[in-house]
Formats: sequence, C-alpha cells, structure tokens
Amino acid sequence: MRNLALALLVTTSISAQSLEERVAREIPKLLDTYKTLHGMPELSTQEAKTSSFLATRLRELGYEVTERVGKYRDPNATCYGVVAILRNGKGPMVLVRSDMDALPVTEQTGLPYASQNSGVMHACGHDVHMTTLLGTAKLLADLKSQWHGTVMLVGQPAEEIVRGAEGMLADGLYERFGKPDFAIALHDWATLEAGKIGYRPGQFMAATDSINLTIRGVGGHGASPQSTKDPVVMAAETIVALQTIVSRERSPLDPVVVTVGKIEGGTKRNIIPDEVRLFLTVRTMSPTVRQRVVESIQRIPKGIALANGVPEDRMPIYERLDHESVASTFNDPALTDRLAKAIAREIGTDNVVLIDPAMVSEDFGLFGTTDQIPTAMLALGAADPAALKAGAQPGLHSSKFAPVDPALVLRTGVRGAVAGVLELLAR
Ligand SMILES: [Zn+2]
Ligand SMILES: [Zn+2]
Repeated sequence: MRNLALALLVTTSISAQSLEERVAREIPKLLDTYKTLHGMPELSTQEAKTSSFLATRLRELGYEVTERVGKYRDPNATCYGVVAILRNGKGPMVLVRSDMDALPVTEQTGLPYASQNSGVMHACGHDVHMTTLLGTAKLLADLKSQWHGTVMLVGQPAEEIVRGAEGMLADGLYERFGKPDFAIALHDWATLEAGKIGYRPGQFMAATDSINLTIRGVGGHGASPQSTKDPVVMAAETIVALQTIVSRERSPLDPVVVTVGKIEGGTKRNIIPDEVRLFLTVRTMSPTVRQRVVESIQRIPKGIALANGVPEDRMPIYERLDHESVASTFNDPALTDRLAKAIAREIGTDNVVLIDPAMVSEDFGLFGTTDQIPTAMLALGAADPAALKAGAQPGLHSSKFAPVDPALVLRTGVRGAVAGVLELLAR
C-alpha cells in the first residue's frame, strides 16, 4: 500500500512538473551541446559533420531520422538536409526548422569554446537554433501524453546562401515525409534582449535580389576622353541614379534598399576601360514593389548609356542571379498571433514583444509558399541589455557576435518552441 502511495506520489509529481522545470533540467546538457556545435562550424553546403551530429542526437531521442535530404542544382553538390519524424497518433503535422550552416568569418569573441575551424564561425547563431531544436525534440518526446499528431524536425543546410530550403523541397520533402499543416522556426535576434521572444505578423523579412550590371563604354587613352565613352563616369552616374529609385520612385512607406556593394573595372589610371561591373543587392518587402524596383534597375543604366551616346551594341548588360535571390519571409498573421499568445502564457507577457520587420533575408518562407502552408518565424532574443542600450551590441554576422547568456537564450528558445508546438498539436 505504501509502495502504491509512493508510486502515485512520484507519478503525480512527474506529470505536475512544469515545462519550465523540465527545460531547466535539460539546460546543462544543452549548454554542452551548444558549445560543441559552436566550436565546429561548417560553411553552407559543407555541413557534413554538423548534420550527422544533429541526426545522431535526434535518433537517440527516438525520432525516425533521414539524412542527406535535398538536392542542389549542381548535381555534384551534396545537400545535407536532416529530417526527423516523431509520430504520435492522428492529428496535425508541424514542421520545426533549424538551419545548420555557418559563415566565412574569423571569430573574435574570445570565448573559451570559440570556433576550431579557422575562418569559419557560427556568427548567425545557427548553433543556438540547432541546440534549441534538440531541446525541443527531447521535451516533445517526453511530453507525448500532451499532444497528438506528427512532429517533423528539419535541419536545413545552406541558409546563408538561401539554397537549402529550395534544395530540400526539390528533393520531395513533402512527398516523402508528408505535408505539414504549419511550419515554424526561431531565429536569434541581436536587437532583442536575451530572455525575450519577438513576433511580427505579416511581412517579416525582405526579399533579396542579387543583380549584376555591366556598364559598357568605349575604352581609350585617359588623356583623350573625347574619343571614348567612359564607363567609369557612367558607372558613377548609375550608382547615384539608382538611389533615386528609393528616394523618388517608391513611396516612403514602402521599405526598399538598393546597395551597390562592389565595383570592378579598369586596369591603370591612364586607361579608360571598356566596361565597369556593378554588383547589387536589392531588398524589398512586397512582391509588387520588388517587380517595379527590378524594372527600374534595368531602365536607369540604359537611360544613362543613351544620354552618353553609347553605341546601340554597347548597351549595359543586366543579369539577375536566380540562385542568390529569394522571396520575402511572410509570417501568417493568425498563426503568428496564436504562437505569440501561447508563448506568452509560458514565458510571461512581458517577455513576448512585437518587433519591427527587418531588411535581412531568409529562405524559411519557402517551406510555406509553394504549398500554401502557414509559416511563422519568431525572433529569439540574444542581446545583452546593457550593450544594446549603449549601442555596443555586436549584430548577427559580426565576428564578435555570441548570445550574451546562452543558458537563458536556450531556456527561452526551448520553452517557446515547445509551447508553440503544444499549442498547435494540443490534445
Ligand atoms: Zn545569417
Ligand atoms: Zn541566420
């Protein structure tokens, strides 16, 4: 009898454990995992060790794991996508995504667990995302009595070059593993304090278009400009004129960025070259604005060439790099609000904040666009409040970026992700 009472007591106390307590118990192990992943960053499309690390851990947690899901346009490149499934009876399917790749950055954080792979660094926090995914995986496996349906965890490669989501979808992700009813993700955020989660219904991140312009002229001697059509001068005019797309052609209420990040041309100070190349990144939020801006970028250089009397056969060449362009990230408003409310119940209303959209880009939205699946990406605060106030917080992609208090960030991330999934798959 006493044994039964004791057993009952133990059972009750296990089920009565709060999510917060359960997550807290996992933190020491997750912190080790985070430090291991932080020390072994791999560049986009080269995530061999990272993906196998993630796959092994997910398998240990009882998930059905498939590796190397995905194919790139280049048939010789391996796509290291990981898919982990946990089935728990009839019910909806939720996809939870973490990216896995790192950046070509030399780490300068001075952390004892800094990158061991020289010139490569987890400067965008994808190590935080993977660790959060593993924590979420563990909790969802432990809490099977509280949900029904299927969880699909995705380790996505090549986010930084916006190729991984496309690669995994092209390999029949949904045909092979089922089509999810929702897709969610967290991305750490360097402008939000650690311990908080940010949400933004609707347009959240920008579309990127990578465009190359070749401004062609007629070269000659630097001392005889009258017998040339100088592409350096036309390139300079073009760069300035492109800025009028934002200031004069678009509504001040439409966010647009046109940046010429690189110029290439010429060999010597006294030679007028035949051509100058401009390399642009263009960021827009709405698909209509995106189309218009891209049209302007074709029109303006042509106009400048005509004004300068460039021969018909030397008009500028416009080239848009499909493989370095991606649509904007749109957060389904209903799903985003639902998640924000559920997460607020778990981590407190004060810790869930509405944030501004950002002009950076992501390929996570692709998991939703082609199949009309509601998607939501939430922001996981990673900033040091004091540094943020002082304007000294290193941003994402900085060689000095690291979450200020990884234990707090991971705790918040796992509680948020689990609360979100439980909301969508509640019994
Ligand atoms: Zn990044
Ligand atoms: Zn990132």
